[in-house]
Amino acid sequence: MFRSIAVAVVCLLAATFSPAVAASRPAIDASLDRVAADTAVLRDPTGHWTLDDVRKHSDRFQHRGTLPIDVRASVFAPSVLWFRLHPRSNDNQLWYVRLRYQVDRAGLYYVRADGTVDSIPFGMLVPVARRPVPSSEVLAPVPAGALHDGTLYLRIVTPDERFATFDLRPASWLLVHEAGSEGERLLALAATIGMVVALGLVGLILGVIFRDPIFLWYAGTMLALAIYEFTAPGLAWRFLWPALSLSYTPLVYLTYVVYLALVVAFSRVLLRLPETAPAMWRVLRIAYAIVFVSAAVVTVWPNLAERLDILSLLDPFASGLFLGAVLLSGFAVWRRQRDLLSATYCLAFGGGMIGMMIAAAGRHGLIHETLGTVAAAGIGAAWQAIFLGAALAERALASSQKVDILKSERDDLEAVALRDALTGVWNRRAFETRLADEWQRSVRSEVNLALVLFDVDHFKAYNDAYGHQQGDTTLAAVARCLGLAIRRPYDLLARYGGEEFVLLLPGCGLEDAKRIAESARAAVHAAEIPHPTAESGVVTVSVGVGGRIPGKVDDPAKLVAVADRALYAAKRLGRDRVVVA
Ligand code: GH3
Ligand code: MG
Ligand code: MG
Repeated sequence: MFRSIAVAVVCLLAATFSPAVAASRPAIDASLDRVAADTAVLRDPTGHWTLDDVRKHSDRFQHRGTLPIDVRASVFAPSVLWFRLHPRSNDNQLWYVRLRYQVDRAGLYYVRADGTVDSIPFGMLVPVARRPVPSSEVLAPVPAGALHDGTLYLRIVTPDERFATFDLRPASWLLVHEAGSEGERLLALAATIGMVVALGLVGLILGVIFRDPIFLWYAGTMLALAIYEFTAPGLAWRFLWPALSLSYTPLVYLTYVVYLALVVAFSRVLLRLPETAPAMWRVLRIAYAIVFVSAAVVTVWPNLAERLDILSLLDPFASGLFLGAVLLSGFAVWRRQRDLLSATYCLAFGGGMIGMMIAAAGRHGLIHETLGTVAAAGIGAAWQAIFLGAALAERALASSQKVDILKSERDDLEAVALRDALTGVWNRRAFETRLADEWQRSVRSEVNLALVLFDVDHFKAYNDAYGHQQGDTTLAAVARCLGLAIRRPYDLLARYGGEEFVLLLPGCGLEDAKRIAESARAAVHAAEIPHPTAESGVVTVSVGVGGRIPGKVDDPAKLVAVADRALYAAKRLGRDRVVVA
């Protein structure tokens, strides 16, 4: 019950924050409301060209159309690109070149009227705190007079395949359009990372409380996803640069492969894949290996990856292959077991996979990239988190049912081992164990212990008259009558053997024991089970009562012997009576 509530909280958290996941990825600005400029691009093969070198190669510039330029397509490996801009308007406004996200370094170059070269490094001249608006973009002011000859040069050093969008904006436009949206973006970002981290922490807490590693795997998966969400859309770059000027590709792929490894581990534990679907378990590991190797190639040999165009293959196809294998694994288990757990699992990864594929296809230009395609990955991730939470709840429920089954099996086994099959009372073995325990307790705490032995009178004759089967039925009836005399839960009635029963009465003095024995004897008599040869005409029992007496009756065997002697006395005295030793 508590588990289900806890898992429901996880689902609720995921549902609450899922719109934030969708909104958190930075939107690609599709607006064309900016300064038009003809652009051309030139790649610096050495990485050390100056503006003079660049101008010497001006015939090698490739025309790239007008702004905005999304340089992602042409940049993959760490590289230096020179853009030549010919803005078409040149009024006296203050202009900014706005560069977004994944750029390691950038500089704006122009030739002054006196023929000397001036440059403005991005981000350095306009620290975050002093920007005209609290924007995330890197801004460089275009100084008045820089456009005197109508040409600007933009030098961009990109760390990897991450894209950089740049455009020319008037300061007035930035003030109007950027301030609000930036705040919203930051809020959505905080909510997303917060959601995934919260899910991870809840998983962690549940794992510690229930000592079930499945929750820890879930927590690990979510925390890895949080780090991936922080690195993949360029957020790490945005917040840590320039303090931490790393190339973020290795970080992105590292978190990606760690995330997928945790998905493998989680699936393995949740669905017990090696046993339930061994073939798919192998396929899943192969798919993971392919993703791992592709990511390693992209990270370690970016130039080779660019030549072979591995990235545009890796992202949608290798990821798709992996997620497809995850999905098929769930499906294989579902086909075999038809249980809710594997169905929920398939639903989780099915949704996650569709979202990721749409986003990847958009990113690589396979379909038109819109805000919707960008948001698809986040929505898919939220979907996945919710349904995986439901799958966890399902598993928790199944394991608590298993505990119930085990408990009832244990009760059954106990019944077989310690109960008498014919009469339903405890058997001789149960009696011996309890007698030893109660004897010790009695000695230790100086309390009474009484023992009552019953023997059915003339039972051989009864069998002879009615047959053994009827004899068995009557023995069960006698046991029921004797049971009526027991009032306290710690009194124990057992079948001592044949047609003999024993009643153990902890904490009971001889007087009380005699009273209880008498009422048991009377109950058997009152049942009026016909007996053809008995004096009274009905089935009766003779009863012997004994008690622990320090110094005289000082071990359990003696207690039984004393009661047995009393029982024989009762037989001698004419049966159907109680004798106290
Ligand atoms: P008494 O005790 O009054 O001296 O006479 P009795 O006939 O009961 O004597 P005894 O104790 O020697 O015989 C016990 C009989 O109980 C022998 C056996 O046929 C019968 N008996 C023992 N166990 C069972 C059983 O499980 N089922 C049935 N039907 N009879 C049993
Ligand atoms: Mg007997
Ligand atoms: Mg008998």
